[in-house]
Amino acid sequence: MVSDVSVEYTRGTPVVREASLSVARREVVALLGPSGCGKSTLLRAIAGLEPLAAGTVSWDGENLVGVPPHRRGFGLVFQDGQLFVHKSVAENIAYGLRVQRMPRHERQARVSELLELVGLAGYGSRSVQELSGGERQRVSLARALAPKPRLLLLDEPLSALDRELRDRLADDLAELLRSTHTTAMLVTHDEGEAKTIADRVVRMRAGRLES
Ligand code: ADP
Ligand code: ADP
Repeated sequence: MVSDVSVEYTRGTPVVREASLSVARREVVALLGPSGCGKSTLLRAIAGLEPLAAGTVSWDGENLVGVPPHRRGFGLVFQDGQLFVHKSVAENIAYGLRVQRMPRHERQARVSELLELVGLAGYGSRSVQELSGGERQRVSLARALAPKPRLLLLDEPLSALDRELRDRLADDLAELLRSTHTTAMLVTHDEGEAKTIADRVVRMRAGRLES
């Protein structure tokens, strides 16, 4: 689904070089490598957030080059959550469902299901502002999963959290991805995290994927 992709911020100096990678349905792949090697850039290119200097991104046989991020059917979770801080937990989770114009009663049921799934049952009416970092990442995850994305893209989702919480959430995340049969790609610089969460680890170094 990623074929010979190069991405550059300055013309002539690619930070991702001819990357090719395919992910099987229901597979969880970790992209592991040192800080600055281009992992996040590759993930963002797959999401449609960075233009490609070369190559193609496709999914289920559909060429996604030129398709805007919100039309790709992918879910996104970033390191710092990027939630709507002035909205409730439930409103945050419902966001993608509203965009999809899911009817209200279905939306309510789906939001409750997601709250349960990420271990935040009863948190729906809380303000995001009063949540801990770990709880916010659970909300981010619930929001990304709500529309049932065909691919979930996770960019260092646990990196902003302290060690102990990170280990616990890594276990929870691994189980959640399995139980929901979610196809996912996880960017991380943490080998332990990659191995806990992913079925397969792909290493990246200086813009290149190991073959
Ligand atoms: P990683 O996710 O592996 O830490 P990144 O993809 O964030 O790596 O960064 C790869 C390289 O591209 C780094 O040298 C980084 O400084 C550079 N880079 C990242 N984002 C930008 C940007 N928006 N503009 C210019 N250079 C960038
Ligand atoms: P609404 O259409 O009610 O204004 P949104 O679609 O923006 O709401 O987002 C919240 C969704 O989650 C609504 O369907 C709402 O009924 C539901 N909801 C609100 N509070 C809770 C809660 N505490 N637990 C579960 N679901 C909730």
